Amino acid sequence: MVRQALWHARTAEEVIETLDADRAGLTSEAVKTRLDIHGPNTLPEAKSVSPLLRFLSQFNNPLIYFLLAAALAAFLLDHAIDAAVILLVVLVNATVGFVQEGRAEQALSGMRGLISPHAKVLREGEKREVDVAELVPGDVVVIEAGDRVPADLRLLRARSLAIEEAALTGESVAAEKGEEPVVEGASLGDRTSMAFSGTLVARGQATGMVVATGSNTEIGKISGMLQQVPTLVTPLLRQINSFARLLTLVILVFGAALFAFAVLVRGFEWVDALIAVVAVAVGAIPEGLPAVITITLAIGVQRMAARRAVIRKLPAVESLGATSVICTDKTGTLTRNEMTVARLLTGDREYTVSGIGYAPEGEVTPVEGSPDDAETPRDLIRCGALCNDARLVEDGGQWGVAGDPMEGALLALAAKAGLETEGLQRDWQRLDEIPFDASYRYMATLHRTPGGDRVAFIKGAPEAVLALCGDEARAVDWQALVERSASDGERLLGFAMLPVGEGAEHIGHGDLAGAQMLGLMGFIDPPREEAKRAIAECRSAGIAVKMITGDHAATAGAIARQLELADDPQALTGAQIEAMDDDELSRCVPEVAVFARASPEHKLRIVRALQAHGHIVAMTGDGVNDAPSLKQADVGTAMGVTGTEAAREASEMVLLDDNFASIVAAVREGRTVHDNIRKVIAWTLPTNGGEAIVVILAILAGFTLPLTATQILWINLVTASTLGLVLAFEPSEPGVMDRPPRQRDASLLTGLLLWRIVLVSTLFAAAVLLVFFGVQAQGSSVETARTMAVNMLVVAEIFYLFNVRFLHMRSATLKGALGTKPVLIALAVVVAAQLAFTYLPFLQRVFDTRPLSLAQGAAIIGLGAGLFLILEVEKSIVRRLQRGQSDRSTTRS
Ligand code: ADP
Ligand code: MG
Repeated sequence: MVRQALWHARTAEEVIETLDADRAGLTSEAVKTRLDIHGPNTLPEAKSVSPLLRFLSQFNNPLIYFLLAAALAAFLLDHAIDAAVILLVVLVNATVGFVQEGRAEQALSGMRGLISPHAKVLREGEKREVDVAELVPGDVVVIEAGDRVPADLRLLRARSLAIEEAALTGESVAAEKGEEPVVEGASLGDRTSMAFSGTLVARGQATGMVVATGSNTEIGKISGMLQQVPTLVTPLLRQINSFARLLTLVILVFGAALFAFAVLVRGFEWVDALIAVVAVAVGAIPEGLPAVITITLAIGVQRMAARRAVIRKLPAVESLGATSVICTDKTGTLTRNEMTVARLLTGDREYTVSGIGYAPEGEVTPVEGSPDDAETPRDLIRCGALCNDARLVEDGGQWGVAGDPMEGALLALAAKAGLETEGLQRDWQRLDEIPFDASYRYMATLHRTPGGDRVAFIKGAPEAVLALCGDEARAVDWQALVERSASDGERLLGFAMLPVGEGAEHIGHGDLAGAQMLGLMGFIDPPREEAKRAIAECRSAGIAVKMITGDHAATAGAIARQLELADDPQALTGAQIEAMDDDELSRCVPEVAVFARASPEHKLRIVRALQAHGHIVAMTGDGVNDAPSLKQADVGTAMGVTGTEAAREASEMVLLDDNFASIVAAVREGRTVHDNIRKVIAWTLPTNGGEAIVVILAILAGFTLPLTATQILWINLVTASTLGLVLAFEPSEPGVMDRPPRQRDASLLTGLLLWRIVLVSTLFAAAVLLVFFGVQAQGSSVETARTMAVNMLVVAEIFYLFNVRFLHMRSATLKGALGTKPVLIALAVVVAAQLAFTYLPFLQRVFDTRPLSLAQGAAIIGLGAGLFLILEVEKSIVRRLQRGQSDRSTTRS
């Protein structure tokens, strides 16, 4: 057995022999036994924070310190019950926080499973896609630009391969690789015959044999730096956290002042004063808020995943809600990527092709007016079938394609023309190739003809192919033919061939000059119906959609019109972008809807230009060269099906179905998440505000506390983990996609939200004081009055919940009244808890409560309903004012 470190110094044949493998791949049985021996090709999971530590971290919060201190004080002062209640609340709070955080983390790491990487391998002579974890030593793996190398490979065959190995060697320049062995003991960076697991293919294509998997790989030996744990921090959460911290601080300082005032001015016993101040602090601090907001974000992530959009980075959920421009690819995203060759042009002849899809059914017919002797253009069709990496697959009469759909269409065309592809590929053996790349837009292959000569076949964007062709190509006005077909929305490909010198084994870009143009083909790729609907939705939501494509301007423009991308879609080509400086580009970019023949570098400039206008930009991409623009965009969006690993890793979001409509669905969910966070805040803060006002008033005016500290803790505990959490599950309000996107730096605490917090806090406090003094005036005890006060506050919160569920419309509707399942469950829990609080002897003892009469209960509910009505009226007035404002601003502009 060859020592592992020596793979790089052995010839490919020696490696194959040592591993008892074959260039055509392993058999299924061999894979199975090897998997048993070597284990799965995975690295041990990064150690996540232990549950105990995570639980303890819930206590690491100034409010909790404060509460624990208060509990200790209460205990020392013989208020054992109060001490126990405070401890219990702290414990329950920590548990709820722990569970919620765990769920949020789980939701996020679950996303990783949805986009687990695959590898292309040869097994039993066939090309297959398998989970990277299933690779074993001896497997033959195919890698190409944009792939992450799935295991340590000894290269068997490499074509212009360059690999970026920074993860391993720290070297940022991509290393050129080849199949030749290198000297024994060469350093990692010099082992050019190897491709190492975890490194990124920057260019080219290769086949390699797996020599090490899992923790036996070079990267596996460097432990520690692997597998990031998903982060739970977003700009918004940071904003909330620092807000909560500031609030806590202010309240503590204010509490100290209040304590001094109570003791010195009001002559409170210091124990009573302390308990009162604890009540204010406990009431005023929104301790549950950050956890509920994390949950809201996590639910957003799950809903987006259900709509086929997988979030890789949590902040993207927020950016999505504010997205104002979506830049999207055309092929496969706006169109179906189901290609059919519809037209052949050979200069003087034109043919149409019948039959849709990849089935070998259809005919090639000369169009009317062609010369009678027009024969099927076999050279052209053969070129398409040979300069081709796809394969057609039949599954129960359904024909599909493995590989590039356009290449699949070329194989279907060959079948329609009666050419047998497999035989063709055998007789015209392929010796070498130049893989397609979006930066030069063609592909070429070198073949040995059945007669033993050498010939190169080229296919690609017509301009790119024509540029390689000799003078006789100019005899035909190809450009005019291109324009004519493209303006119907057809995607065009040019084909050429070139006899090359005897004995040539390799081709490079420089060898292709003087090729001979064979003709053009026009492909139809129908637009997606759902993309058209999604674009209409974007337009009503004030989101601009820009198509950025490598395709011809006329083709792109025609598709843009079919999809109604803009009223009159303006197009700009890559060449025009090239001629502009950044300022000029920035000036014209808002008006342009279609960027054609654009390359990945142009995408980066386009994103920057849009961002210079203050836009929040979502940008799609699939290739390795798209990584910079995906990183630059606010929501880089990679294709899950056709995208490369490089694009996925640079992006914030991955589309499982490559579908434009999924981006828009994610934007809608992003807006919903933002709405729900505002609802959570709008609901939580007034509760705290109302409680604080009541207690502060009592201290300042010197009357008995209407709520005790433990009662306030009870209210917060019961309502925050039920009613507050419900808002995280709220579905989208109708009309979320009818308003313009929110401003990039709009603060969460808008003037309107602040106003509502003040108003509702005041109303809550008023209602509580009303019942508190009302029942005492009727001769009830302070304990009964407090029981009324607590129930009043909870009922007010319930009614307010129904109001806040719709920020943008009336809540007093049948739909609003019925609520959703989570709303009803939370409601039932809260009602049960309040009944227990009021009537259960045990709880009566703990909280010092008294049973209430039916009339008292009815009075509370009546007051709650009154509160609801006042708030509904306020909402409709505010809405009318806002509408007036926006009408005025639109007429002005
Ligand atoms: P798109 O934005 O439509 O996906 P691409 O950058 O993939 O555009 O392709 C740009 C152009 O390159 C296409 O219009 C086509 O002419 C050519 N092209 C695309 N794929 C291939 C391929 N596999 N082989 C040769 N040429 C191709
Ligand atoms: Mg493409």
